[in-house]
Amino acid sequence: MELPGGVYILYYFICKRKLWFYANKITMEHESDLVEIGKYIEMFYKEEKGRKGTIIIDRISPDILERSEDSVIVYEIKKSSKVKNAAKWQLKYYLWYLKSKKGLKVKGKLLVPENSEEYTVNLSKDDERILKNVLKDIKRIKNMNKPPPAIRRTYCKVCAYRMICWENYF
Ligand code: SF4
Repeated sequence: MELPGGVYILYYFICKRKLWFYANKITMEHESDLVEIGKYIEMFYKEEKGRKGTIIIDRISPDILERSEDSVIVYEIKKSSKVKNAAKWQLKYYLWYLKSKKGLKVKGKLLVPENSEEYTVNLSKDDERILKNVLKDIKRIKNMNKPPPAIRRTYCKVCAYRMICWENYF
């Protein structure tokens, strides 16, 4: 598998079943109001900062790139801090990608504009080792002939796939 987009990393850390659906092109995001709201929050934030358009570098799409004195700052914007850990790993993946594939010196910032939250995200050697294993595991999950079992978690209530996993539950 060629290197995946950042959403694969995000979903890997949210739910392996969600990742399997997404990787196998079973997409429900277009039916999710929450995904739409997330896109608007990102758009409004970018407009406020005078940033427009989508950045696409090969297969990755960081929300904002900004030049600082000695490096490039990579921003990832999220609607809520519910998926903060997964979003940090998505951002670490962008940092790793830009460092190892493009030779850039990078720093990360995770923003949750709704809550005025901002987190600095760095990439350690241990993170790089973890990401290499995550990439292998994503490939394994994608190639499974059926999705991993549904495991109920708080996030299921806002997940676009909840109707597939939990018919009559929510
Ligand atoms: S509803 Fe829950 S179990 Fe199903 S894909 Fe979403 S997060 Fe995973």
